Amino acid sequence: METKFPGFSGIQMIDDGAADGAAIPLTAAPSAAAAEPGATESKVVIVGSGPAGLTAAIYAARANLEPIVIAGYVPGGQLMITSEVENYPGFPDGIQGPELMELFRKQAARFGTRFADVDLDRVDFSERPFHLWAGGVEYRAQSVIVATGASALWLGLDSETRLRGRGVSACATCDGFFFRGKHVAVVGGGDTALEEATFLTRFASQVTLVHRREQFRGSKIMQERALAHPKIDVRWNSEIAEVLGEDVVTGLRLRDARSGEMHDEPFDGLFVAIGYRPNTDVFRDWLEVDEKGYLVVHGETGSKVEGVFVAGDVHDHRYRQAVTAAGDGCRAAIDAERWLESIGLAEAATATAW
Ligand code: NDP
Repeated sequence: METKFPGFSGIQMIDDGAADGAAIPLTAAPSAAAAEPGATESKVVIVGSGPAGLTAAIYAARANLEPIVIAGYVPGGQLMITSEVENYPGFPDGIQGPELMELFRKQAARFGTRFADVDLDRVDFSERPFHLWAGGVEYRAQSVIVATGASALWLGLDSETRLRGRGVSACATCDGFFFRGKHVAVVGGGDTALEEATFLTRFASQVTLVHRREQFRGSKIMQERALAHPKIDVRWNSEIAEVLGEDVVTGLRLRDARSGEMHDEPFDGLFVAIGYRPNTDVFRDWLEVDEKGYLVVHGETGSKVEGVFVAGDVHDHRYRQAVTAAGDGCRAAIDAERWLESIGLAEAATATAW
């Protein structure tokens, strides 16, 4: 993608604007278009086209289930607004996020997956076949795999959007490496921010937590760990008014939350860690969600509705990695196949026996 910062690359999370197809243009959108006409019924409909959904599609397709993927208007999930991915196994030289998702998609298509590049509007899981409405079309599915992911929250500043991939990131695991010997800021006061800040001390010379209140929200143990670290300091009661820098991040304009006073401080990077929003709105009437809105998994990859399976960041707020999401998609597809087999809708299992 064009948002390259020299020496900086990695996974950045999709934002709401991008999810709506508005903020960030795609440079390598997958080539396949809508589902073939008439492809509205399947033994498996997969919702979501990030690593979890497409891996589920590869497995379901290879099990001859001819899955339909409701991929979204902006297919590919969070990796579509990623620059270089260096931690996905099998790519020793790294790979661009959109390119990686195109490879996933080609692999799924090769085995007979059908794609609909539209957003899911509504579902009815009251009986089988399940009903799903997307782009004005009704789909019917004997089983469903929900892999709609989660979106990182952003501050919403223009300067933050402009400098994303040029020093602004939402993923320390992905991008921390590129800040060796630098002074970075982490905004947020929850466990994600504390964890990201602690992780970044491996590379950065100094990590400054910027928090809008004078008390962290995160767990006590993570607070203690962060506050005791010699490389971590905190700007309490501080809001970010602007990210400074033309081509790369050079600093932050901080606003004192009590007095409103502004001052500028130099930084080499900003990690935004103010939480995630799981993409579960469409399912809330049917599936169980936890207090943060993530889907609750029943058993291995199941949900409270028999025949509806769950994979990836839509339930996983712990690991949030492309590779863990892909693994989860594989598990969900195998479970769906086994379940279809158990009700007589699929042939003898082609997947791993257990
Ligand atoms: P949280 O919602 O817990 O925290 C978000 C933080 O960001 C809060 O401190 C909040 O401030 C701040 N914030 C929110 N919006 C803004 C904004 N617009 N500007 C500035 N600051 C803002 O999200 P997390 O992602 O940290 O955690 C989510 C869940 O995942 C939690 O349950 C957490 O415990 C869990 N988790 C667990 C981990 C672990 O166990 N290893 C690691 C990471 C997360 P304020 O406090 O003022 O509301």
